[in-house]
Amino acid sequence: MPFSKLGLQAELLRAIVSQGYSSPTPIQTQAIPVVLAGRDVLAGAQTGTGKTAAFALPLLQLLSGKPRTGKAPRALVLTPTRELAAQVAESVQTYGAHLSLRSTVVFGGVSINPQKDAINRGVDVLVATPGRLLDHVGQRSVDLSRIEILVLDEADRMLDMGFINDIRKVLALLPKQRQNLLFSATYTDEIKRLADGLLRNPALIEVARRNTAAETVSQVVYRVQKEHKRDLLIHLVKDGQWQQVLVFTRTKHGANRLAEQLGRAGIESAAIHGNKSQGARTKALAGFKDGSVRVLVATDIAARGLDIDRLPHVVNYELPNVPEDYVHRIGRTGRAGEEGAALSLVEPEETKMLKDIQRVLKRDIPVAELPNFPLGARQPEDARPPQVRRHGPRHAGNAPAHADAHRKPRPRNPQRRAAGDAR
Ligand code: AMP
Repeated sequence: MPFSKLGLQAELLRAIVSQGYSSPTPIQTQAIPVVLAGRDVLAGAQTGTGKTAAFALPLLQLLSGKPRTGKAPRALVLTPTRELAAQVAESVQTYGAHLSLRSTVVFGGVSINPQKDAINRGVDVLVATPGRLLDHVGQRSVDLSRIEILVLDEADRMLDMGFINDIRKVLALLPKQRQNLLFSATYTDEIKRLADGLLRNPALIEVARRNTAAETVSQVVYRVQKEHKRDLLIHLVKDGQWQQVLVFTRTKHGANRLAEQLGRAGIESAAIHGNKSQGARTKALAGFKDGSVRVLVATDIAARGLDIDRLPHVVNYELPNVPEDYVHRIGRTGRAGEEGAALSLVEPEETKMLKDIQRVLKRDIPVAELPNFPLGARQPEDARPPQVRRHGPRHAGNAPAHADAHRKPRPRNPQRRAAGDAR
């Protein structure tokens, strides 16, 4: 079905054409007419399905039908992360380019005053993370009493991140009479409870089966020793000439360290995680999108909701502790019908995690042969935690013999060695 059959107005169709979308995705085909008809929606859809346009397009149309009176926002979109909030706000701007509606975004980690000014100028659509929205409520810089449409985007993530109380506080401030749209990748009991209390006779829309990896993503496991992971990754990136790779680590320190190591191997990399300032996160993401950063190393929380067009490669440098996070991670690739590849570097100690993931996926992930690459080309300055199995005393020239053949020793970095794993 073409976009023109969904009941969208000409100004929105023009914006869709400028985006180069030729036909609606399944979630858009199902959600747009229902939202336009004013119904509540409970949608099961992961990132990458086109869910943002599925709510943003009809929401803009409903608001453009009647002008705003006063300054208070009429639509509120809540998202779990700052990055997702920024991306949703950008989409709202893009799709609303030919309408005279105003939108703004508020999230933490940046100064609150410019946000207050923007709200005070009058907005139709407010995109927000729950915590910062409540800061505005506390400072009386936002009036939520005129909200006609509420969207909870990635509601399961918001619950995972402990936002339920904040969400309830926000809900208490909204008018009772309103339209509610709830988007969630998974349908847990907690989501069901939230939906039961929030939605009235909702249209149920499901486009991705629960806990199923996007079907356009090819998945592969490499069985590899922990100490060889970094070299394998470097080899894969260089040999495969990968230009845009999202790599997941379990810890913030691990993300920093890997990004530094890749950088030293000549691969432009950046780390993105919760300890980074908002400015640093935005810069890293912008670099990744414009191609100046080839590898973005991320933790699960930081990566939630990242919207990067046509991301071809996702690497699980370490498997996630929570099996469902695997599904979210690989959902970053193969977006909106594009092909994608997800690779997992699995060390022996991660075998149980792999089994848990396969149980959630209800299938085995094929194990690929290791490519022929120079093993163990580790540099002596990379301090490792003491529990890692070593092949001998650690100082320059005492790494495994097969590794030494390939490399020149580099000068030590005493500062980094002293910091060890505490980084
Ligand atoms: P989302 O699931 O909302 O994060 O969207 C994932 C990606 O799909 C975004 O980069 C959108 O720009 C893109 N997208 C959304 N709708 C369409 C469409 N109908 N055709 C092609 N791409 C789309």
